[in-house]
Formats: sequence, structure tokens, C-alpha cells
Amino acid sequence: MHLPPIKRTSSLLRCSKKNQIILSRASIAQRVFVMNQSKIKAVGLLSGGLDSTLAAKLMIEHEIDIYAINFTSPFCTCTPKAAGCAAVVTAVKALGNISLKQVALRDEYLEIVRNPKHGYGSGMNPCVDCRIMKIKKAGDYMHKIGAAFIFTGEVLGQRPMTQHKPTLHLIDRESGLQGYVLRPLSAVHFEPTIPEMKGQVDRNRLLGISGRSRKTQISLAAEKGIKDYPCPAGGCLLTDKNFSDRIRDYFSHTEHPSIKDILLLKVGRHFRIDTGNKVIVARNEHECEVLKNQYHEKDHLLAPLNFPGPVVILQGSALKAAIDKMVRYTKRYTPETVRITHSYKGKIKIVSIKDCFVN
Ligand code: SF4
Repeated sequence: MHLPPIKRTSSLLRCSKKNQIILSRASIAQRVFVMNQSKIKAVGLLSGGLDSTLAAKLMIEHEIDIYAINFTSPFCTCTPKAAGCAAVVTAVKALGNISLKQVALRDEYLEIVRNPKHGYGSGMNPCVDCRIMKIKKAGDYMHKIGAAFIFTGEVLGQRPMTQHKPTLHLIDRESGLQGYVLRPLSAVHFEPTIPEMKGQVDRNRLLGISGRSRKTQISLAAEKGIKDYPCPAGGCLLTDKNFSDRIRDYFSHTEHPSIKDILLLKVGRHFRIDTGNKVIVARNEHECEVLKNQYHEKDHLLAPLNFPGPVVILQGSALKAAIDKMVRYTKRYTPETVRITHSYKGKIKIVSIKDCFVN
């Protein structure tokens, strides 16, 4: 993807015929916004959170035709069960049913989590690489639909890893979209972007929010009638310490990581018995169902038959260790009588716990 760089001169710039605006860089701050163009399209990264919803609202007020793009991954904490993001659907409604494209991030995203060029945050969160990937994808969409720019709800200084000036510049550079990423909530802290220079967006109506406090955004939302923002700051499992330990362990014991395995990392108690053996124990009925539905045929699935115990998955061959974990998390049982169903490689057997420990 090749985009023209921003010219660092103060000479007059002539934009496309369609927009017919002649601009001077020297007077950008004072320039009167000219809206004689047919509706400009822009792609907005919409998370369903307050900031991105507000940014989209500001763009709507500029009479920009918004095409929202929303990314989901198995690491989103807002969408544990359903495919797609419920919060973004609410945001889209609040914004007047704008166009929405939902993108589920799969194995290429997992590869970034495994091997991020720019490192991790406090957990296994590769935030800089994650943002670069999302902005790149939004840029591809921008080109596809003939949009003029993309915008995000990022606020300068709000998030420690990604929302500082040098990092935001790096993200724009590495995504190949330098000058085309507008951050309406913090725009006045940055150099004017190409859409501002072209007069497609009025810089005087953009904001200068910065810092971690969200008071300004909350009062702005009230002012603009935005009431529902169910995912106020977004949620990402990769920032969670316990989950990060699990995924680290997963990477170090898995030759070919797959996004399909992530669901299993999100449920149950996990026990690494040794290099070749791991046991997952369900904590409740819902997790029992998840384990039953998600286990791979190469793994062992152990389910209690005549006693109220948890479902267990064994990745490896240490059957006794797995049954040991199952009984440890069963409150009442009688070893002489209890039996379990043992599924492995497409075959199901009924075995008694007693026999398992004897053999
Ligand atoms: S917290 Fe998670 S979703 Fe957000 S930027 Fe970081 S890795 Fe990406």
C-alpha cells in the first residue's frame, strides 16, 4: 500500500477536483472549514467503548459518512460467548445505525501475541503490534471503499503503552497510514492530518483531550445524548496475569498454536503436571459443557457417570493424574462404586475409578 506523504512545505496544496479546496499550511489553525464536497467517507475504529463512540459522534457532526470497523478476538472479555461484539452493536444504534464491519481476528493475531515486534505490556498484551495490525486492516478497508481517512477514539496519554505521542506516531508509520489517522478527541495535540489539511474535517471543531481521567468524555457523552457505552474501557484477557501465565505455558508447550485452543485456556482450573501432561478441571456446569464441546480427539475427556464431579480434559497420557484431579474437586464420592466415561480418539469407554488406580 503506498500513500502519499504529507508535504512539509507551507506552499499551497491543491486537493482532488471533487473537493476543490486550496489550502495553505501556514494558516491551518484558522482555516475556515469548507464543506462543498459530496459526503466524505471515513473508516472509524469502533470498540463499543465511550471514546470511540464519541469520536464517531464528532465525525457524524462533521457530516462525514462513517464506516465503522470493529475487531474481536477470543481475548475480548466483553464477548465471552457470542461471536461479535454486543457493545459495538449498541454503539452503532446510538450513532444512528451507521455501517458496521466486524472482523474476527484469528491465527495471524495469535502469531502477533506469540511473537510481538514491539514487546508486551504488563501481561501478554502486545498492544503496539495489536494497534498496528488493526489500523492496517482499517486502512485496507479505507482503500476498498474509497474512504478519505480513518479515525480512532484514542486519547493522548490515556493508556500507558500505546497512547503516547511517539508510540502513536510509530503506529501510524508502521501501519503505512501516516497522516491518514485522525484522533478527533486529541487532534489539537497533534500535527494536522491530511483530512484536516484538505478541509475535509474542521480542525477547529476537534478536541484536545489528554490524560487518564475520563471526566471530559463522560460529560461530553451526556451533552451529546450518548447514554449506552457498555464497554467503557474495553477488556482484554491478555492483560490479566493469570491468563497470561496460561498462554505463556501454552506457547511453550505447543508447536503449532491455534486460535481454536484459546477457548480452553479461558475455562477451568489448569494444572501442568509435567512437560507432556496438562489437566483442565471444570469449575461449574457451564465449564463442564465447554470442556465436552471443545476437547480434541487427541486429548482424553473424563466425565463423571454416577457422581457429582467435574469434567476433566487430559492433554497427554497421565490418566491417573487426571483422575486424581477429578476426585480432588469432587466433594462426596465412594471410590469403590464411582465410574467415569473416558473418551479418547473417537472411542468412549466406561471405567471405574477404582480400576484406574489399581492398574
Ligand atoms: S489491551 Fe489487548 S486489545 Fe487492547 S491494544 Fe492491548 S493487546 Fe490489543
